[in-house]
Amino acid sequence: MIAVDTLVHNFLHRTGILKQLDAAHAYGTACYQQGRCADILRRVSTHADARRFNKAYPISATSMSVWSSRQAYHVSSRQE
Ligand SMILES: [Zn+2]
Repeated sequence: MIAVDTLVHNFLHRTGILKQLDAAHAYGTACYQQGRCADILRRVSTHADARRFNKAYPISATSMSVWSSRQAYHVSSRQE
């Protein structure tokens, strides 16, 4: 199961990912509709190897992947 919180939804919104995928919507139950937040996370997680950040992590872990992406975004935002 994928849980979408406001941080994840807002991350997808602020980075323009939702708009780019023509999936813009308000936070809430819409996050779980086909093609929106949960679906996007599910698709992205299949391409993220969490072991890149820590060898103890599994190959694909949605929450770890999203956390890592948010951390990377947060770090790059501070560098600008
Ligand atoms: Zn959403």
